[in-house]
Amino acid sequence: MSTLFDTHPKPFRVGGFVPLTTVDYPGELSAVVFAQGCPWRCRYCHNPNLLPARADTQWRWQDVLKTLERRRGLLDAVVFSGGEPVMQSCIRDAIMQVRALGFKVGLHSAGIYPKRLAGLLPLIDWIGLDVKALPANYPGITTVHASGRAAWASVAQVLASKVAHQFRITVHPLLTPAEQVDEIERRLLDLGAQEVVRQPVRTERCFDKSLELSFAEASETQQEQRLEA
Ligand code: SF4
Repeated sequence: MSTLFDTHPKPFRVGGFVPLTTVDYPGELSAVVFAQGCPWRCRYCHNPNLLPARADTQWRWQDVLKTLERRRGLLDAVVFSGGEPVMQSCIRDAIMQVRALGFKVGLHSAGIYPKRLAGLLPLIDWIGLDVKALPANYPGITTVHASGRAAWASVAQVLASKVAHQFRITVHPLLTPAEQVDEIERRLLDLGAQEVVRQPVRTERCFDKSLELSFAEASETQQEQRLEA
């Protein structure tokens, strides 16, 4: 007879695990599972160690599940973050295992796989979806052709699903000018978004070193943009 902790033929690849946070799923005490792997190479990505899908990690999915089982009653939810969690086709099984433990499920995604995301939305309770730019401007950030089409198709999937959501406009002062951020927000609200927030990039550490800014430089650039807008 199989158990919850049987080794799946292709277990979820975990790049990091935070056992308790209050900020990754609004209003819920959560644990966060960071997926190993992402197909994009955003110039401002501050977590390049999570990008290679096959990198060795210190985490095993079965051990994460065992930890979660011990925390039943102490946590409300488990959030899949990344990297890009939807990259792994086995995420569906991982979500079902977490649900079987009685937790709500949150998902952080950049919207890279809209079709797979559509199949997962009925299984999750809340999604935080990154919106990096207007569609045409995505490749200048992600370095991937047609990435904007995928991300905005995911926006449409989330809105059609009625799952509780938060769209997070990722803002780097050198890549996302203030007027573009305003336009993204306006489009999302026009489409029917429940919640849109602005999420500043941590500019002290970027995949593309030319984008690294000190806190003072980033603040100064944002101030100049506000004055110009
Ligand atoms: S910022 Fe997100 S989507 Fe972009 S490369 Fe990093 S993990 Fe992937």
